[in-house]
Amino acid sequence: MKAAVVNEFKGPLETKDIPRPEIKAKDVLVKIHACGVCHTDLHACHGDWPVKPKMPLVPGHEGVGEIVEVGSEIHHLSVGDRVGIPWLYSACGHCDYCLEGKETLCLDQQNAGYSVDGSYAEYCLADGEYVVKIPDGLSYVDAAPLFCAGVTTYKALKVTEVKPGEWVAIIGVGGLGHLAVQYAVAMGMNVIAVDTGAEKLELAQKLGAKHCIDFMQDTPSAKIIELTGGGAHGVVCTAVSQPAFKEAYRAIRRGGACVLVGLPPEEMPIPIFDTVLNGVKVVGSIVGTRKDLKECLQFAAEGKVKAITEVKQLEDINDIFAEMEKGEITGRIVMDMS
Ligand code: NAD
Ligand code: ZN
Ligand code: ZN
Repeated sequence: MKAAVVNEFKGPLETKDIPRPEIKAKDVLVKIHACGVCHTDLHACHGDWPVKPKMPLVPGHEGVGEIVEVGSEIHHLSVGDRVGIPWLYSACGHCDYCLEGKETLCLDQQNAGYSVDGSYAEYCLADGEYVVKIPDGLSYVDAAPLFCAGVTTYKALKVTEVKPGEWVAIIGVGGLGHLAVQYAVAMGMNVIAVDTGAEKLELAQKLGAKHCIDFMQDTPSAKIIELTGGGAHGVVCTAVSQPAFKEAYRAIRRGGACVLVGLPPEEMPIPIFDTVLNGVKVVGSIVGTRKDLKECLQFAAEGKVKAITEVKQLEDINDIFAEMEKGEITGRIVMDMS
């Protein structure tokens, strides 16, 4: 089968033939129809984080397609089912985190396109217990970005605990952020979007943001405090930039929450005095559970959220990564593999 493979950190991806994976009893084999390109895939190929991925690696954790083979111990799925293979490729299913509905925190998890091969390929193996079905009527290209960008931002918004009518600031309106804006609007929040360049900010406005701030022209935190009369009730930071996190922290209202989603490799210095006196929360949020995914897909099936996509091919992956590094992508690039 055809796949895009990275052989060494920071090396180019090579599109080549590799053996099609064999299923075991609890697996399904998915013929991939589309796969979104997440900035995490770029971090994986660069070896940016303390925990390193397998190498060589087939990246990709926004892969969607149809099941073509079902393992002997999987009884709730059939050949032909339309599913996606998320970042949470599998979890143990019996630790305290898994039992409490916090499976994304399981210490015994596998991650698609990181610890196991992902969906930058014609076929991808998946754990039958962890794939999630795509609602009827939602196309593969529209569904793909929801399997990471969608579920991650939908979950992060829940973590902010912002109520309808309150202010949420979305820092970074890229692949994740442009969906964050839409989920926040659909959840009844008042949205302020922060990024740079007319194209991204006009998109954020079109998607329902009440105010848009260009971080190259204004100091986002000062502007957010002014616009909201004291700061946002919640901030979701998806930017791949340490200064963006400083701004995100400064933009929170007393008692509010700053939710960290983007994963630049640097640290985020937090002032103890202000954190205590202002009673603010700084909290990390990692993707979402199968239940979060099901809910976030339903928003799209009902037409409340729609990923803005540009369709490209697997062979374009090195150019896509180059564009992503320069921050030149508006919305999400999805590779059509059908
Ligand atoms: P992306 O490249 O599509 O978007 C990042 C955006 O941040 C760009 O639009 C860029 O212009 C903007 N940006 C850069 N500096 C900024 C600043 N100072 N202020 C405001 N915006 C700024 O990337 P993506 O696919 O949306 O992923 C974003 C990050 O989220 C990555 O680090 C990725 O690894 C991480 N991620 C985390 C999770 C999670 O579960 N926590 C899930 C998926 C992705
Ligand atoms: Zn577990
Ligand atoms: Zn991702």
